[in-house]
Amino acid sequence: MTNRRNFLKQMTLLGAAAVTPVSLALGQNESPAEQAEQSDGLFTVPRGEILRNKSPRKITIPDVEEFRILKGDFHIHTIFSDGFVMPKDRITEAVDNGLDVIAITDHIEYRPHVGGNGFKLLEKNDDHNMAYNIAKPEAEKQNLILVRGTEITKSVMPPGHFNALFLEDVNPVAVAVENWKTMLAVAAGQGGFVHWNHPGWVAPGSGGLRSGEMMRFTQEHEDVFKKGHLHGIEVFNGSSYYPVVSEWCEDRNLALIANSDVHSSEWNMYGHQNPLRPMTLILAKERTYDAVREAFFANRTVVLAAGMIIGRPEWVEKLFKACVEVTGKPGLLELKNKSDIPCFVQAGGTVRELAAQARLSLYRSHTIKKLTVCNWLTGMNKPLEIAVG
Ligand SMILES: [Zn+2]
Ligand SMILES: [Zn+2]
Repeated sequence: MTNRRNFLKQMTLLGAAAVTPVSLALGQNESPAEQAEQSDGLFTVPRGEILRNKSPRKITIPDVEEFRILKGDFHIHTIFSDGFVMPKDRITEAVDNGLDVIAITDHIEYRPHVGGNGFKLLEKNDDHNMAYNIAKPEAEKQNLILVRGTEITKSVMPPGHFNALFLEDVNPVAVAVENWKTMLAVAAGQGGFVHWNHPGWVAPGSGGLRSGEMMRFTQEHEDVFKKGHLHGIEVFNGSSYYPVVSEWCEDRNLALIANSDVHSSEWNMYGHQNPLRPMTLILAKERTYDAVREAFFANRTVVLAAGMIIGRPEWVEKLFKACVEVTGKPGLLELKNKSDIPCFVQAGGTVRELAAQARLSLYRSHTIKKLTVCNWLTGMNKPLEIAVG
């Protein structure tokens, strides 16, 4: 008769062979069986890095013309505003997720862990560059491009929230806190790129956009856009998609952005290496900070979020042609996806999945002269259409 303790102990010993590499990696001399004998506890807990899949996510996307496709997230919070993660850990999370570039964008106006009651990180902090400065050496070590940024956070909509990216110094933006238009002007004056965040965000009871109201590009936003202080808009934030933003950006030549706006850990928000996690794809001349910035101001961004591609027609079409080889004859199309981006395609018949790195034969009537890519969007409700001979 085996009691529960002995049963568990036997199971530990049975598992010994499987956990041998773990003990070696931990630098322990005893065999797992010996450990189990010596230890009063029945189980040892390997360090997290041993359990974690140590291979960073690899996201294969072929070059488009002379441009490399870099993957970025430009809206990330840390414990220096209302996030729950240290700046250095954001670097590790980003590398694990296959990103090339991130911006840490802590709120200027909302920092519950500074001063006040409850959990306090700091009594006082006038230095809004601190999260960036802590993360920067880690970013260099792990070869991640780090962009200095911040979130300008007004409690009514309009104007709502903005991210200012590629700043030289966040503090002068914070000094202008009383006037959001001045904040944007200071950011733009530093050569910063400003994008409007989660434009569907509602501020109940604060006199702005309320729940159930239509999203709108307001006169306030028009004013700052005309001054050259607004350069892009989030078409996707967290798990929210704002289709109309494609039209706003098309009409005003603004860049489309997708970000996580992650406050908790990446694992808590999306799980491990979630392929649906939002990111901005940057068509960059090279993998450098300057090249990312140049691409942003040239509107060479395409969004990959929730399994969708969203962008300007020009870049979406070029990206598709770089990713998917289409050959065909009357009655049949042969498709080969060389990328990790999934496609849902249709040539007159039912929608078929062309998975990452997969091939697909698609039958079509001879009268069908176009291939529709249902999850690649060139505008609001506008799936990509590719002419086929
Ligand atoms: Zn926000
Ligand atoms: Zn945010």
